[in-house]
Parts: sequence; structure tokens; C-alpha cells
Amino acid sequence: MFASISGPRRPSPPRAARHARRLAVLATAAAALAATGLAVAATPSSAAACNGYVGLTFDDGPTGSTNALLSVLRANNVRATMFNVGQNVQGNPSAARAQVDAGMWVANHSWNHAHMTSMNQSQMQSDLSQTNSAIQSATGVRPQLFRPPYGETNSTLQSVAASLGLRQVIWDVDSQDWNGASVSQIVSNAGRLQDGQVILMHDGIQNTRDAIPQIMANLNSRGLCPGMISPSTGRAVAPDGTPPPTTAPPTGSPTTPPPGGGCTATATFPNVWGDRYNTSVTVQGASNWTVVVAVTAPQRVSTTWNGTASWDSTGYVMTMRSNGSGNTFGFTTMMNGNSSARPQIRSCTAG
Ligand SMILES: [Zn+2]
Repeated sequence: MFASISGPRRPSPPRAARHARRLAVLATAAAALAATGLAVAATPSSAAACNGYVGLTFDDGPTGSTNALLSVLRANNVRATMFNVGQNVQGNPSAARAQVDAGMWVANHSWNHAHMTSMNQSQMQSDLSQTNSAIQSATGVRPQLFRPPYGETNSTLQSVAASLGLRQVIWDVDSQDWNGASVSQIVSNAGRLQDGQVILMHDGIQNTRDAIPQIMANLNSRGLCPGMISPSTGRAVAPDGTPPPTTAPPTGSPTTPPPGGGCTATATFPNVWGDRYNTSVTVQGASNWTVVVAVTAPQRVSTTWNGTASWDSTGYVMTMRSNGSGNTFGFTTMMNGNSSARPQIRSCTAG
């Protein structure tokens, strides 16, 4: 819960000026799309009216009111980044999953909101990796961003985070919602956001939820759209091409692997329930193999077996490697409203 882990926070330190370039952002997004091949539908937040992107972030969740926050965000076509506390995720994994299902990005905000600069290197490592595991276990998504509690950091913490594949992200604008700011004060603070910048807000605060419609009206009037935070730059950029749940296009069920690659993977769907289904994939032609599988948003893989899974940054493309459990692996996919799509096998590689 927010109350159990909140404490005095400090305003952000001055940040160096930075330079988001819209053309570069668009080129990066296009390259990412070409690389993943994911189908993309036009969305309100990626309309041509966007002159730039800002990162809306909500810390300290999930909380007892995460669902209320997600409802407001969805109603306002907002995709945001949720800096989750590991023990909150462990205590409420379904709320963390709901964040992802609602199109949010999930990120690491430490295990229990400690003052991490007083930890030694191995304590930092343990704290962040435990949090990554809890988030990945609950959501199927591996975090790529980390925000230290209270914005307190040092070079050791940054290098530990980097070693775990986490980009540190502080903030440019502090909404002051943690400090009792009124709705109008939160709206006013958000009004300072410029292209590429990131604002600090929190899960579990009523005034924050109430401010979102006005924050969005202000951003829209300035041609700014909610974006994702780039794991490579820490700046807000266009969403990565992963379609939000409401705009996911249905697909057929192509399960024929592309030719070549040294092995063949064939998918069947032995169990289909109302909200989820199982996929069983049998590999022929290799005993050590790597199979790449893509699922269609808003579907999400919730469980895997008989292989070692890893994920790309979108969370929709899974790479499964043999782990000595034989040549048939499986996974459960949550439909999340799309009951027709089935996973696509991208490749099967021997060795
Ligand atoms: Zn926090």
C-alpha cells in the first residue's frame, strides 16, 4: 500500500538540458516496428497531432486503488509508466497484470522503497533483481527502467541497475502529489512538461486521479501526447508500436514456421477456456533449439513450461530455449478480450 511505503520525498535535482528530436524518435519507432513486424493500428495517442511526447509516471503501486487509476487512464487514452514496488507486486500480482493489460509499461521502483544509497552493492543487486523477478513473474514483462526511491542514487546504484538491464529514470517535473498538492496544483505542475520530459506522480492518490483529465486537456492543447520512456535514453518518445489493447487487430492462426533455420516448430492448442488457452509447441530436427513466438496484443503469455523464456522490450515476442525438458514446450496465453488470435511462430533455430 502507498501509506506503508511512502515517506518524505525530495524534489528532483536540477536536470541537464536534453534534446529530443522528433524525427529521430519517429525513425527509431519505425525501425522498431520493422524489426518486430508487429501489426499496428492507428491510435489516438499516435495521431499526427502529436508534436512531442511526455512520460507520465506513477510510483509506489500497485495499491488498493490501482484499478481506479487504470480506469481513469484508459478513459483518457493515456498510456503511462508504472514504477512498481516489488513487495507490492508480490502482494497483488493481479493488479500488476492489470497495469500491463491496460497498456501501461511496468518498471522497477525497488523492493520496499528503502533509501538505497545506504545499501552496499550486493544489497542493491539483491533488491533490484528480486523486484525484477516479482514484476516479470506477475506480468510476463521484464522491466527495463528503474527509479530509485526518493530519487536518491549514486554511481554504485546506477551501475548495479545497468548490470541488470535497467535504465535509471528520475523525473523532470515533480507533480507534488505526494506532498498534498491540490488537483489544480498538480495540473499546473504538469503544465510545465516539455517534449521528452517525465513527470513524477503516484498510484494511490485521489487528487492525482482527479487531475488526469485536465492534465490531458492541457497536453493535447500543446500537441503533446503521452509516450513511453526510452530504455536507451530515459526520455519520453513515441509508443513503441505495441498497439494498446483497444486497437489490437485480430489475426488468423498462422502457425507455419518460416522455412530454414535448422528445425521445425509446430503449434497446437490443446486447451481453450473462456479467458485463456494453452499452446503446445513441438520441435523437430534439433534437440537444442531456440524458438521465437509472437503473441497478438492484448493477449499476454502468463505461464510457460518445458523451456526457458525471455522477452523482447514489447513483451509480446517470446524467445524460448530448450532446457533439457524435451522437444515440446508450452505456455498459457490470456486472451484479454481477443479470443481469436493465436501465437505466431517466427523462427526455429537449432543449437
Ligand atoms: Zn516512490
